Amino acid sequence: MSNTKINTKCVQGGYTPGNGEPRQVPIIQSTTFKYETGAAMAKLFDLEASGYFYSRLQNPTCDTVAAKICELEGGTAAMLTSSGMAANFLAVFNICSCGDHIVSSAAIYGGTFNLFSVTLKRMGIEVTFVSPDASDEEISAAFKENTKCLFGETIANPALNVLDIERFAKIAHAHGVPLIIDNTFPTPINCRPFEWGADIVTHATTKYMDGHGAAVGGAIVDSGKFDWTKYPEKFSGLCTPDASYHGVTYTERFGLEGAYITKATAQLMRDLGVTPAPMSAFILNLGLESLHVRMKRHCENALKVAEYLESSDKITWVNYPALKSSKDYELTQKYMPGGTCGVISFGVKGGREAAAKFMELLKLIAIETHVADARSCCLHPATATHRQLSDDELIACGVSPDLVRLSVGIEDADDLIADIEQALAQI
Ligand SMILES: *Cc1c(COP(=O)(O)O)cnc(C)c1O
Repeated sequence: MSNTKINTKCVQGGYTPGNGEPRQVPIIQSTTFKYETGAAMAKLFDLEASGYFYSRLQNPTCDTVAAKICELEGGTAAMLTSSGMAANFLAVFNICSCGDHIVSSAAIYGGTFNLFSVTLKRMGIEVTFVSPDASDEEISAAFKENTKCLFGETIANPALNVLDIERFAKIAHAHGVPLIIDNTFPTPINCRPFEWGADIVTHATTKYMDGHGAAVGGAIVDSGKFDWTKYPEKFSGLCTPDASYHGVTYTERFGLEGAYITKATAQLMRDLGVTPAPMSAFILNLGLESLHVRMKRHCENALKVAEYLESSDKITWVNYPALKSSKDYELTQKYMPGGTCGVISFGVKGGREAAAKFMELLKLIAIETHVADARSCCLHPATATHRQLSDDELIACGVSPDLVRLSVGIEDADDLIADIEQALAQI
């Protein structure tokens, strides 16, 4: 599949059945796997042979779907997780422990912001947030001796800031750490962060990759490009023997292309068990088969809706990265010339109350704590996903109290605009 175009990878990547084998990815609904000898099994436990023994660590269905996502991103290894949050946690925790520090863009998903600012802190990992628009000098000043990675989102949910990936990668590499990018919103159809220097990519597959609001899930992909062995003390977990696996050194045994994902699977999946169900991986794969077709439609519809909103006198502001009026329009042209995502944010004239009223008057567009679904939906983050955050924290994340987040689906754009129009007419 390596020399095919991305549209073909969506449909056929990760799985090539042999003669007489199932055309669709088989759901291997089995917790465990049978072996003829104890010695064969022991080799698996020691990571001396590859194979399946227990689905908490690895399952063939999940691995097949991870392989497709790996191809889409152009990585060397990938794994699925039970959720997008689990993917972000594992991606960071695989190279950080108590006493370490990370630098993150402040414009990130609310759940990830909480994970970093509250839960990682309780684990003794400190996070410094920087504005994605800060200067190189300001971002560099956030780094410390114990900094282990730089983190950001390609398009921030819900602030919709576009990250200057190439600039962030240069800063990370100048400080000898990898750049981890949550690429949930554009998906690899619209942006492939590895092509701009990112080292590790994460996904909430719950969003566009599944695309039908059917299965929560996540993925981590490694580019295989970050040379951990240049900093053996900083990344000792990857570069020195792991006592919990009879002294295996991940970088030596699995090379740069496999060390990071093998460690995350062998240690973190083993101990934390944030494993996806094989059935969920199968559902995710059905979504991936049409990802390229759906993303195009999401983006076309969203641009039409965003242009309509911009022309309405009932709307105070509209933020959509593909609009010429977006402050990130140049970054959008650089990183995502073919399309961004289906999510738009805007303010309704009359503020918080008018926004709530407007949302209740919508008929086709539903109020949901979800985005990136085939069906259009909307949400008021200040009273929903981001309600744990203070006003100051909200503004630091780029979320104003009057912000309505609209996730434009793949219905007919004319119907969506008509729905918005009738709701605005009534407030
Ligand atoms: C939804 C989301 C997550 C979290 O994913 P879950 O599957 O809900 O855990 C992480 N990052 C981004 C950008 C998201 O939109």
